[in-house]
Amino acid sequence: MTAPEPRRNVQQIPAYVPGKPPAPRTDLVSYKLSSNENPYPPLPGVVSAAQAAVETMNRYPDMGSAALYAELAARLDVPVSDLAAGTGSVALIYQLLAAYCEPGDEVVHAWRSFEAYPIAITTAAAVSVPVPLTADARHDLDAMAAAITDRTRVVLLCTPNNPTGPALTQTEVDGFLAKVPAGVLVVLDEAYLEFVRLDDALDGIGTYRRHDNVLVFRTFSKAYGLAGFRVGYAVAHAPVAAALRAVSLPFGVSSVAQAAAIASLEAQPELFERVEGIVAERDRLVAGLAEVGWHVPDAQGNFVWFDLGDRTGAFAAAADAAGLMVRPFAGQGCRVTVGEPEANARLLEVAAAFSRE
Ligand SMILES: *Cc1c(COP(=O)(O)O)cnc(C)c1O
Repeated sequence: MTAPEPRRNVQQIPAYVPGKPPAPRTDLVSYKLSSNENPYPPLPGVVSAAQAAVETMNRYPDMGSAALYAELAARLDVPVSDLAAGTGSVALIYQLLAAYCEPGDEVVHAWRSFEAYPIAITTAAAVSVPVPLTADARHDLDAMAAAITDRTRVVLLCTPNNPTGPALTQTEVDGFLAKVPAGVLVVLDEAYLEFVRLDDALDGIGTYRRHDNVLVFRTFSKAYGLAGFRVGYAVAHAPVAAALRAVSLPFGVSSVAQAAAIASLEAQPELFERVEGIVAERDRLVAGLAEVGWHVPDAQGNFVWFDLGDRTGAFAAAADAAGLMVRPFAGQGCRVTVGEPEANARLLEVAAAFSRE
């Protein structure tokens, strides 16, 4: 008898490496800087809205996420038909590929970029076409356009790029889109949108309005601080949004997540104040690093990238010894989330000592 075997692509799915939790220490407070989370606790209105939703846990959530869609549609000035919510925007990547890729179809994305991309692509039995970043850790859009073939269904643009930091400009994206065939979907993965401070910043929603094949993915996990609740959304033209909803897990986005997302949108002013604080910390960190000789790629998210090559493990160990959990990518570098001021100060000390070794 032969044991049942999963499909061949399933055996090829790369493992997702989650950011390490902080190790319990008795000598000092340790910080988790490994998953790009918001270091602040939820705003008060968010907790009470979530608690109210908890009272109805015996009922299924609203599968149509009607209240959340209404709130998003009003704020973004888009029709409800152009929205699709998912259990984090990672789920929306899976849904898009499930809806549009036949086995063997190609998906073009930058590399190194978000580690979930090759995982989701392989899960869909599609083929990952990674295009190396430029020397300054940016998307190489010319090479990405050249990588499009007649098997390409989707291009994933990650802006700002996780884990390296640079964001795409409007000019760059416009130039790229002019080269993309109309039958290829282009995702603008804007997980870190709120942290971008650029002159020629990309207007993702404006870009989707001008191009039928462009869609935007956003999440409540990062700036909004709801990583634990799993909720994100897509803004896409109605047929694409309908396909995303059609393949979604029924009742995936919980009542608690829907309520918390709405309350977070309502708390936007306070939330953006906190984001401003994180951006200020980031810029202070980047400037401090430059003072001790570390020139990191343009950091437009809530994280910085240390290009370390074979010193990656040593840097992660040095951070660990200082009570900082960072996210090492073996043989390449470390991504470190901008955290609490004390954590960032400690990171500067680690980096300063490390560069002198
Ligand atoms: C964190 C992240 C997401 C979304 O994560 P979810 O928690 O699933 O919403 C999407 N794209 C990138 C690049 C990310 O870093």
